[in-house]
Amino acid sequence: MCIFCKIASGEIPSAKVYENEFCVAFKDINPQAPVHILLIPKAHIESVNQINEENANIVCELMKAIPEIASSIPELKDGYRVISNCGKNAGQTVFHLHFHILGGKEMNEHII
Ligand code: 5GP
Ligand code: ZN
Repeated sequence: MCIFCKIASGEIPSAKVYENEFCVAFKDINPQAPVHILLIPKAHIESVNQINEENANIVCELMKAIPEIASSIPELKDGYRVISNCGKNAGQTVFHLHFHILGGKEMNEHII
């Protein structure tokens, strides 16, 4: 089982901020912004590259969870950034699909 599968199952503890049938969101262990949340599917999907017709409903559930999570965190009320690193060149280090939700400060307009 990969590290995020273990976090999703509770085998590895995490600071969870949200959970539903399809996904879990928890605080990043090495935050890069005042608010840094990771949103993952409970099912193991490697990366954006593995999104397909069969798992699209799960990904849709993740997308729907984002505004729910954001609205529960006051520091995100003025906006936030959602990022998914896909593959080596993007710096993906955990090969279980995840969306970084970053905020709590004004970020510059550059994505990289
Ligand atoms: P990536 O580089 O793959 O886009 O992002 C992986 C993220 O997972 C990193 O920001 C890293 O800090 C975070 N991370 C890695 N291992 C753990 C862990 O065991 N617990 C938590 N909460 N975050 C983790
Ligand atoms: Zn996994």
